[in-house]
Amino acid sequence: MQGVLIDLDGVIYENGQMIPGADKVIRWLQAQHLPFLFLTNTTSVCRQALVARLAGMGIIVTEQQILTPIVAAARWIERFCPGPVALFLPQASQVDLRLEPGQILAPDCIEDAACVVVGDLAEAWDFSVMNRAFRLLMSDAQPAFLGLGMSRYWRNEGALQLDAGPFIQALEYATGRDAWQLGKPVDDFFLAGARMLGSEPGQTLMVGDDMFSDIQGAQQAGMQTLLVRTGKFRMLDMERSTRPDGVLDSIAELPQWFTL
Ligand SMILES: [Mg+2]
Repeated sequence: MQGVLIDLDGVIYENGQMIPGADKVIRWLQAQHLPFLFLTNTTSVCRQALVARLAGMGIIVTEQQILTPIVAAARWIERFCPGPVALFLPQASQVDLRLEPGQILAPDCIEDAACVVVGDLAEAWDFSVMNRAFRLLMSDAQPAFLGLGMSRYWRNEGALQLDAGPFIQALEYATGRDAWQLGKPVDDFFLAGARMLGSEPGQTLMVGDDMFSDIQGAQQAGMQTLLVRTGKFRMLDMERSTRPDGVLDSIAELPQWFTL
């Protein structure tokens, strides 16, 4: 294996608590000089906050070792979208878009966006917020529609919770438009991660707790996959047609898997 892509939520931590042994596994990867990258659909906080959260668990990495849909969106906007951007993203994560203040559309504006960016607003979603996104997308300006991460749900404080995917898909249904998706399970996102590691897709391993976003997505990108039985994992996942290359009780078992 030339590189390892690792999901964060449900694999490294859950409810802000490290999954036991995750820190040792990261130190093991570092000692093996095996390149790794955290590949997460998290759009609720910025990379700097993720680095600090991991450091609090004894996992020392840099922002460059974390790829999120917002980082992919920043590259996309820089290349294709010089005009005003309407953000449906928490304030805490917007910094990773590296926009100038004048590039962000005013929060009450429902026209003249060049791009509408939809991520994980969680509790901040309500009818008027959804309806503003809808109106912007339907406006004559025909703004680009970026969907950041099609994850369906995640596990928070012991219960399943809606992720960004269902909201993006609701807007797709209402507008009859397809979002330009950035993040898992889109294969380009996995391939971008592998490129950052200098790893061939077939020699890259994805470790995740989501059968759809992590496992199916990575397989479509030609990668090997490991499902962990932590986070959002449910026994029902094992009855799906998608088959990971291996199943671990938790990421703590990763070094053993390598020696099999
Ligand atoms: Mg996860």
